[in-house]
Amino acid sequence: MLPLSWRSPDGSNVVVFSEHAARTMTAYIQATDTANEAGGVLIGFRRSPHLEVVDVTFPRKGDVRSRTSFLRRSPQHKKSVVTNWRNSGGYLDHIGEWHTHPEDRATPSHIDRAAWTAGGKNLPFLEVILGRQEAWVSVLTADGMVRLCPINDTAQQVHE
Ligand SMILES: [Zn+2]
Repeated sequence: MLPLSWRSPDGSNVVVFSEHAARTMTAYIQATDTANEAGGVLIGFRRSPHLEVVDVTFPRKGDVRSRTSFLRRSPQHKKSVVTNWRNSGGYLDHIGEWHTHPEDRATPSHIDRAAWTAGGKNLPFLEVILGRQEAWVSVLTADGMVRLCPINDTAQQVHE
């Protein structure tokens, strides 16, 4: 399963995924040779500069999926964000995006990087790509994009 706790190399950003969010995304890893890409949005809250992902959306009817691409086209993603935002009194928001890649160690494509750094996002903004064995997790801040690394289990217990 996707590790639950991540941090930037200098420790200035910490990101935590709920077990529910991690399990939902992990279920879409492209484990077989024919599985299509999947994706959705990350819903959670900012305790700047830290982020906590509570829930995620997942592929719905209307999304365009292929082996090597995922286009979020279903209105359900935005509806989930709005419902969470309303029900939480504005606490839970759209704090990032996720998708899968059909490669063992996920690395962002040029298209991914261009989309991530396009303007109009509230920062920090989280980007997750799930590879077959290793995920890419990065956060876009005012200073640029920072790749995060998983915090090991021992450290995670201390953190909790
Ligand atoms: Zn990608």
